[in-house]
Amino acid sequence: MNKIKMTAPLVEMDGDEMTRVLWKWIKELLILPFVDLKTQYFDLGLKNRNATADAVTAESARAAKKYGVAVKCATITPNAQRMTEYNLTQMWKSPNGTIRSMLDGTVFRSPIIVKGVEPYIKTWTKPIVIARHAYGDVYKNTEIKTDKKGKAELVFTDSDGNETRSLIHDFEGGGIIQGIHNTDASILSFARACMNYALDTKMDLWFATKDTISKVYDRNFKDIFDEVYTREYKEKFAAAGTEYFYTLIDDAVARVIRSSGGYIWACKNYDGDVMSDMVATAYGSLAMMTSVLVSPDGVFEYEAAHGTVQRHYYKYLNGEETSTNPVATVFAWTGALRKRGELDGNSELADFAGKLENAVLETVESGVMTGDLAAISSLPEKKSVDSQTFLKAIAGKLTVMYESKG
Ligand code: NAP
Ligand code: MG
Repeated sequence: MNKIKMTAPLVEMDGDEMTRVLWKWIKELLILPFVDLKTQYFDLGLKNRNATADAVTAESARAAKKYGVAVKCATITPNAQRMTEYNLTQMWKSPNGTIRSMLDGTVFRSPIIVKGVEPYIKTWTKPIVIARHAYGDVYKNTEIKTDKKGKAELVFTDSDGNETRSLIHDFEGGGIIQGIHNTDASILSFARACMNYALDTKMDLWFATKDTISKVYDRNFKDIFDEVYTREYKEKFAAAGTEYFYTLIDDAVARVIRSSGGYIWACKNYDGDVMSDMVATAYGSLAMMTSVLVSPDGVFEYEAAHGTVQRHYYKYLNGEETSTNPVATVFAWTGALRKRGELDGNSELADFAGKLENAVLETVESGVMTGDLAAISSLPEKKSVDSQTFLKAIAGKLTVMYESKG
């Protein structure tokens, strides 16, 4: 076949350990034989981040801003053990954190649904996408513990020197106090990212807080979402046939469990942290969870939700075959290729992304899968294979799809 042409490049952010190995195999077996791939390549592997004093991470984020679409491999976030393992000059920050703050983005996590891997919640037949606000609240808190009697107050001094005070509590004895904040700008960005993503995917958007109890703080989230929706999105949502729906967080949780999925659930920072792990687990496997960072000005960065699968990498280094699941990483590539295709009016490229996803799902549904899925799949006939064999089976199906088309 003639390889599919690309007009604009993808920003390619390579990473670490087992996912770096899978990255290379995915390109060799599933993409390069079909697509005349154009990328701006950045090596975000820890070795190169250290060698460039982490400049490469910021460079890759700037390129993502310029080209609009990026695909990222999982990367190591250094800790004390990695300092010695990689002989680091500094404990470099999480690349995801750096990229997220440069793009001012919101992360959307979505499960890949495949026959044989049933969610624990029987009614969930469509994905639930969790959008987590990644700024402020308890993640940037200030806390005090006191053993004494005393008065706790909230004090705000504005830029003109005026003070606003509010009593928190008159303590009779020991206790704890916490101060948290958020900004209108960050909440507005979050709201826009969620609404753009809802339009992009034609899914309904749910948002929930506890504004009956938190009449100022949570109420401000609700109001900003309402205002931006009414002002900028209401008509677009109507045209796309999607809905924005607000409710209380406890009502949302109950509705989510009873639902069949198929919507975006926008969560405040803490709710998103907790609920994304619950939802991911309930869908069956972390290795089947994709993630996309969307900036308010429309930059998309796709990746798998899991890490570098370190334990498998050490086996691989020992010369053992591993059965690491590449599905979420393949879907990071298809997400990016589809988006590139849509932005460039390149339907052949967008179509390729769909075919590749179908080839992955058909392979798993035919009973050929990696060990993690074989352990939970309900298919009667299933075979656990190593990562390369699995990727080759997908490539086989993809080739047939293109050949049968003629
Ligand atoms: P992990 O890489 O997600 O793996 C944890 C365990 O989950 C694995 O040992 C494996 O279980 C299972 N698993 C995850 N992905 C799998 C896959 N694709 N196929 C099969 N099994 C899979 O988390 P981690 O070991 O805690 O972290 C390793 C490194 O990744 C750390 O350095 C961390 O900083 C980094 N990390 C990066 C990102 C990112 O870049 N977005 C996210 C999270 C973590 P078994 O061992 O039982 O088979
Ligand atoms: Mg968490």
